[in-house]
Amino acid sequence: MKISKDCVVSIHYTLTNDDGEKLDASQPEQPLAYLHGADNIIPGLEQALEGKAPGDAVEAVVEAKDAYGEVNQDLIQEIPRSAVAGIDNLEVGMMLQAQGPDGQVQPLTVEAIAEETVTVNANHQLAGERLHFDVTVDSVRDATAEEIEHGHAH
Ligand code: ZN
Repeated sequence: MKISKDCVVSIHYTLTNDDGEKLDASQPEQPLAYLHGADNIIPGLEQALEGKAPGDAVEAVVEAKDAYGEVNQDLIQEIPRSAVAGIDNLEVGMMLQAQGPDGQVQPLTVEAIAEETVTVNANHQLAGERLHFDVTVDSVRDATAEEIEHGHAH
């Protein structure tokens, strides 16, 4: 069967960036299962997989806007060092967890450390990146009513 909305799809994938660096991959024995058409995966990859069938190999180059979005400068902010006073070994590149206004946990990356301030970036780590996916479709099946209701594969 072909991939369309409300199918549960299993894929083997390797994700690399524009420089050919491997960023992520599925485990050989454990393909990634997702619910197609439910925003479980980035839109550009979902589009590339539409209509494919088990055994199909797909190479997809996904622009940032169809992946994790462009870098939003408003999400890069300077905060006083006192706000992170409790964190030991603060260093550039470190990931922090901030509590959002609605109690949601927001990951932040430390971009720069100055005497009085720290620059933190709340963009997704892959924002602004063009992504390269090397995918093989493993299986495709109809989602159950429960999966469609939950919006994810079981
Ligand atoms: Zn569920």
